[in-house]
Amino acid sequence: MQPEVMKPDSESYRDSMSIVSKEGKRLWVYPRKPKGRFYNARGIVTFILLAFLFVTPFIKVDNHPFFLFNIVDRKFILFGLTFGPHDFYIFVIAMIAFAVFIILFTVIFGRVFCGWVCPQTVLMEMVFRKIEYWIEGDALKQKALNAAPWTTRKVLKKYFKYSIFFVLSFVISNFLLAFIIGIDDLWKIVTDPPTQHIAGLISMLSFTLLFYWIFAWFREQACIMICPYGRLQGVLLDQNSMVIAYDHVRGEPRGKIRKDEVRTNGDCVDCKLCVDVCPTGIDIRNGTQLECVNCTACIDACDHVMDKTNMPRGLIKFASANGILNRTKFKITTRVVGYSIVLVILIGVLSFLLANRKDIDVSILRAPGMLFQEQPGNKISNLYNVNITNKTFADASLSLKLENVQGELKIIGNELKVNANEVSEAKFLVMIDKANLKTMNTPLTIGIYDSDKKIDELSTTFLGPKPN
Ligand code: SF4
Ligand code: SF4
Repeated sequence: MQPEVMKPDSESYRDSMSIVSKEGKRLWVYPRKPKGRFYNARGIVTFILLAFLFVTPFIKVDNHPFFLFNIVDRKFILFGLTFGPHDFYIFVIAMIAFAVFIILFTVIFGRVFCGWVCPQTVLMEMVFRKIEYWIEGDALKQKALNAAPWTTRKVLKKYFKYSIFFVLSFVISNFLLAFIIGIDDLWKIVTDPPTQHIAGLISMLSFTLLFYWIFAWFREQACIMICPYGRLQGVLLDQNSMVIAYDHVRGEPRGKIRKDEVRTNGDCVDCKLCVDVCPTGIDIRNGTQLECVNCTACIDACDHVMDKTNMPRGLIKFASANGILNRTKFKITTRVVGYSIVLVILIGVLSFLLANRKDIDVSILRAPGMLFQEQPGNKISNLYNVNITNKTFADASLSLKLENVQGELKIIGNELKVNANEVSEAKFLVMIDKANLKTMNTPLTIGIYDSDKKIDELSTTFLGPKPN
């Protein structure tokens, strides 16, 4: 059932939800199958996104995943570069930049991300819904089938549809898991005896059931009632934001078209096709609504009607409220400029941090609370702590050398070995002949070597007694 069409100046439609009846029951949405140029373009975008989902886990760089989002072990790989807990500050700035980007994008383009890129809408409308149309037919046939008694034909159709939904949910959950644990570990879960990967199997099954539940039953409620991004629209959108909008100036007063009549009404022929195709069950002619995911299905439907009635396309279009009311073009507002400046600064900081990020990060500090020690042979020693972060996929074996003074550098205990993606700490002594110390505080330069290759140079100081 679709909502009653309200007058465009009425706000009462905001008091209720398109998918909930007056009695508080869910109204199942049966959107009519869309067709048109925007739907075709969405098909291409969907193909690219699905290719990303199904191909990326197989791409490897140096035998490691191209992308990995292992939240459990706090290990992330982006474009073949590994990031771990030691990159927390980069992660925080990247997240802030991403949030500002989303805000800026939404302020300008509204909720177009939801309709075109969000996995929920893409999978629901462009994959699961298409399967539903294929098996059960268009909206009217689906309604009729649901209302019909349980015959063998109905049971078979439902069984076939939900079996495909389940298998697809299973495949999607596997690939999602591949982004978290990597395709090799996923393959182990699939091929090893189940008892060896109980946790993995539970995750796989939980994701499958969750996706199945969402795409078979929960559907548009995820966008309308749960998605936090959807909730943010109210504060992010303004009169200059581009949204899917009905041109009420041109369309009203709406009225059916009659043969041979001289039309005095607006261009909307009140065919309700825009309402019929809407996957969230709203009437866009009421104005911008929280439920609208900017899928553009109503644009295609209305353009089709305009073509048939020999009226110009664009009665429903991508436009701002001001653009429709005042016929003005897109305006760059102070808000847009402000967010853009913040975003440019954040991207600048992020780029700087990434450009200066070292594969192996070493820091050296003199042991706290200690000055210097007298050693046999007229030598003075200082004790240092060294902290090494290996951000690569390979184990590293480092050595340290004094670069600017003659002396001895002795690692205490084990060699400086750091496993891939791990942090290691050690202590070392620097011993210098008293005769070589000209001040109480001698600057020291220590070279860091990986095999024989110098990878870094660090400065510290060496404390000694007052020279004679
Ligand atoms: S109103 Fe139009 S753009 Fe918005 S969800 Fe419905 S069909 Fe999609
Ligand atoms: S599809 Fe276009 S003409 Fe038909 S009701 Fe919607 S806005 Fe009016």
